[in-house]
Amino acid sequence: MIDYWKMDHWLLLVLINGCIRACADKNLNQTKDPHRSIIRESDFESLIDWSTSFNDKGEKMKRIVKKEDYIQSLKDLHHMVYYNGKRVEDVTGHPALRPHINAAALTYELALRPEYEELMTATSHLTGKKINRFTHIHQSVDDLIKKVQMLRLIAHETGTCFQRCVGFDGLNAVYMTTYDVDQKYKKGYFERLKQYLIHIQESNAMVVGGMTDPKGDRSLPPTKQSDPDLFTHVVERRPDGIVIRGAKAHQTGAVNSHEILIMPTQAMREDERDYALVCALPLNAPGVILIFGRQTNEERKFEEGIDIGNPEFGLVGGEALVVFEDVFVPWERVFLCGEYDMAGILVERFATLHRQNYGGCKGGVSDILIGASALAAEFQGTANASHIKDKLADMIHLAETIYAGSVACSAMGYKTPSGAYYPDPLLANTTKHNVTRHIYEIARLAHDIAGGIIATMPFQGDLESSEVGHYVKKYLAGAKDVPVETRMKILRLIENMSGGTALAESMHGAGSPQTQKVMYGRLGNLEQKKRWAKRLVGID
Ligand code: SF4
Repeated sequence: MIDYWKMDHWLLLVLINGCIRACADKNLNQTKDPHRSIIRESDFESLIDWSTSFNDKGEKMKRIVKKEDYIQSLKDLHHMVYYNGKRVEDVTGHPALRPHINAAALTYELALRPEYEELMTATSHLTGKKINRFTHIHQSVDDLIKKVQMLRLIAHETGTCFQRCVGFDGLNAVYMTTYDVDQKYKKGYFERLKQYLIHIQESNAMVVGGMTDPKGDRSLPPTKQSDPDLFTHVVERRPDGIVIRGAKAHQTGAVNSHEILIMPTQAMREDERDYALVCALPLNAPGVILIFGRQTNEERKFEEGIDIGNPEFGLVGGEALVVFEDVFVPWERVFLCGEYDMAGILVERFATLHRQNYGGCKGGVSDILIGASALAAEFQGTANASHIKDKLADMIHLAETIYAGSVACSAMGYKTPSGAYYPDPLLANTTKHNVTRHIYEIARLAHDIAGGIIATMPFQGDLESSEVGHYVKKYLAGAKDVPVETRMKILRLIENMSGGTALAESMHGAGSPQTQKVMYGRLGNLEQKKRWAKRLVGID
């Protein structure tokens, strides 16, 4: 790989000019496409390349507009991704990774559809240009609500996690916190962050928000771990930047992102300054290694057809362990370094912003599961049974309850000193906490309605077998005129969406339930509640 931080300036200019010309040609062609109708004249201005990210050919990243650009950008990235012990040369061609890429690609594709323009795009408060909402800093309560509506919309299209929200929330959390840090320490982080944000908005790059450290022995702080790298930290400070080491775990969408925004995993103390770190890296930076996590029914991704369940978009986000092996970060990309007292508020803000989402995306995913359950009942002739109607009503109630929580915390959001808007943290935590329970109940009801067949159904290969296929068709027949293949597709979709990895993700994504309970202790105002109770009965 080239040393992308030290390229000659003349070479950079040549590459930038070439990139601008190539992008201009490409976008001129795009304007002929009717689906590109929201690409405006002003988009040509965005071809001014703010990028400081490079692929390993030394080419600057181009602006990603449509799905195909996104796929090509991942091919060009040549980052170090491992799957089951082997290096993946092209993530876009790997059957286990491609479904997650397809889901994230919709965050680009839907932004080009006129009917979704209001939800999927926003106006940058920094440049005044139209940008993808996933790169926006919330400027109003309306922005917060639109975010939730957008997530439910995309969930309806994918039936799974589309991953891009993590970086979106990271950018917003870091934006409001660097402002506060600079009010206190005057380090210039906020202005740096704004320049980085312009780069992300202009390139339309996908950012993964890297918060969760491996943490080793949870009873010990970072400095007392047997291995100091179990928390990501600074190992060297240089005139031109810092060197970091460590890892981030469970990183949703990391293998198909372009950048990682590293944040501290928890509040830090004075002796933990080296762990109070916020910085951004291109994922193809030397020393960054991504190891993809195994999912439930992982092997089915290598098949085609019915047994996969959700063939195009897969199962939840696709998580990876991201390792930083002495990675250099120039100061321009460092947004917190040693200001340990600000780590806690940053973590709290990121968590709140991501917990705000869960009634949106999980509400949308639940809608699919409810629809699939209703179809399963129809296909087996139980749709008119009163207990089935009752269970479907319960599922809708639970899905709308989590969605209502996301809308409520957004509606009760407020402006922070940075100008960015922030959802009500107590309500956002409550929303996520409800998701850790309601998704399990929705899945339980789906299993109840669909029946044990989701766990015992034969393979697609049996259905198509010349020897036993006729038995499968005979004995898996349901309601009249419903092909067995149709019934099997819906049952496999329910299996895909309601078991294993999908449930664990709802429990622990955006923080485990106990972290929400910690927030109730902080924000729940128990003392005030006691005062109200005492006042009613006349206790001093
Ligand atoms: Fe976005 Fe939901 Fe996936 Fe989180 S779980 S990244 S909020 S789609």
